[in-house]
Amino acid sequence: MEIKRGIPVSPGVALGPAFVVETEGTHIPLRFIDKRHTTREIERLHASLQNAIGDAHANRDAISEKLGKQYGAIFAAHALLIEDPELVREIEQLITQKNYSAEYAVSRAMRRHAKALQALNQPIFSTRASDLFDIEKSILKHLVGQQGDPLQNLQSPVILLAHDLTPSQTANLDPRMVYAFATEAGGKASHTAIMAGVLEIPAVVGLGRILTDVSGGDEVIVDGNRGVVILNPDEETRERYLVLQRQFGTFNKRLDELRELPAETKDGTRVLLLANIEFPQEAPHCFDRGGDGIGLYRTEFLYLNRSRDPNEDEQYEAYMAVLRAIGPDKPVVIRTMDLGADKLFNQADIYLDEKNPCLGMRSVRLCLRNLSLFKTQLRAILRASRHGDVRIMFPMISTLMELRQCKMIVADVKEELEEERIDFNRKIPIGTMIEVPSAALMAEELAKEANFFSIGTNDLIQYTLAADRTNEHVAALYNAGDPAVLRLIDLVIRAASKHDAEVCVCGEMSGDPIYTILLLGLGLRQMSMTPQNLPEIKKIIRSITLEEAKQVAQEAMRFATARDVNNYLREQTRRILPEVVVN
Ligand code: PEP
Ligand code: MG
Repeated sequence: MEIKRGIPVSPGVALGPAFVVETEGTHIPLRFIDKRHTTREIERLHASLQNAIGDAHANRDAISEKLGKQYGAIFAAHALLIEDPELVREIEQLITQKNYSAEYAVSRAMRRHAKALQALNQPIFSTRASDLFDIEKSILKHLVGQQGDPLQNLQSPVILLAHDLTPSQTANLDPRMVYAFATEAGGKASHTAIMAGVLEIPAVVGLGRILTDVSGGDEVIVDGNRGVVILNPDEETRERYLVLQRQFGTFNKRLDELRELPAETKDGTRVLLLANIEFPQEAPHCFDRGGDGIGLYRTEFLYLNRSRDPNEDEQYEAYMAVLRAIGPDKPVVIRTMDLGADKLFNQADIYLDEKNPCLGMRSVRLCLRNLSLFKTQLRAILRASRHGDVRIMFPMISTLMELRQCKMIVADVKEELEEERIDFNRKIPIGTMIEVPSAALMAEELAKEANFFSIGTNDLIQYTLAADRTNEHVAALYNAGDPAVLRLIDLVIRAASKHDAEVCVCGEMSGDPIYTILLLGLGLRQMSMTPQNLPEIKKIIRSITLEEAKQVAQEAMRFATARDVNNYLREQTRRILPEVVVN
């Protein structure tokens, strides 16, 4: 049995067989073989090498005919490489001496050579490294068979283990087939982590090296509450986790009973509990979990996983689907696309080759550079606005000028619609995310020109502490309880209340039970989160008075380190609601 610790990002406990996804997307079903089967494995290896050589020759002939002999020669060289006796010997030795499966041995050997070439840091050798990756794929194709997308073709439920998953890969996981996932990379507020919460798949990220310790089919436990992954558990641990799994289910069932009750403190202060969604299909989850509306619709997910951008009508239809699910009277905050950073889409031509995309052309910056993309979206939102309580929100605003520019574009689009006699809500509220420290510091000025704020703590933490939200190596620095972050949040709430702007928190912090009392005590009356978290947060709000919350907030603001803040808040949360799981 081996116990690994990582970052818990989606609660729940799951047990099941491991399914290991290799970095390059090929799933290697088995890493180690029984010693008795080495001869058979070597035969499989040679058959696949012959097939891969056949492919290279076929490519050589086809390309020579189409483009000329000099291009065909690239594939002739591939064939020679595959036949290279030294390489073949190395792979054979990995099978006979280390008991690797043929697939794993090929992958190991090819990558070792490719990485050595890459390390030379010269373009000519990098090209050779890419050739090696190509050859690896070709041999693996014959060994493993054509897999298609391994994540889409799961035949029975598994625990997924990967180096990392992209947000769109995660968005496409089927929760009936993926009981849980665990990744080596990733941070608390990465979009992959957020998607796990949306799909209600227990998940742990940022585990560091784990793939080398696990083979396909090994039994794995993922504890998404505590951030623990256990490989090959012993019988006692297994039993203990089966009990924990049942307890977690019972607690959740009890929370379901709160669905129809308002999120109100014991002394009657009402808090609006809103849901974050990425796809229109998720909108009904808001009410299933007792929410009051949509506080954040991350529309950029409309642009991911497709070969062309959604046109105005397609976007309009998506927004209407949300409105139909939510009804005309509940708020629906549509955030304009926040593409860039870890959310990349297909339009490669609008991305620049940036060294540091999180600090580059992301979000409204990208929109203000690509006005037709931006205007198409604004037209669709405005058209939908006459059917409900739609609000527009801009992400990643860093300066007052940016907010003004965005508002000017909205005014232009409104004018266009007027001319075309298309109806829309002329008084549509316009708000901004506060997720860049400069915006938090300028909150007073922004509050005079925006109808509402939504504090995006996922990015606010990242930019305040200069700690990448997706990077497990700086996960300890990336902390919602850091006093620097809390002071910015306090500043924003005060500025909003002074200028009568509404304020919400829509980052992952608002769905984390240890911060509920603090946020309430700081004066927050709106929180938006993954629907899965709504019942637990409602339960905490209903278990406390406003006066108690204010006292807790006052005390928490006195601490100088994240550790002290978090310890104190954990203690207070447990005191109020002992069943709650706090990390
Ligand atoms: C945030 O940054 O807190 C936020 C809600 O936006 P996203 O997670 O989509 O960047
Ligand atoms: Mg953000």
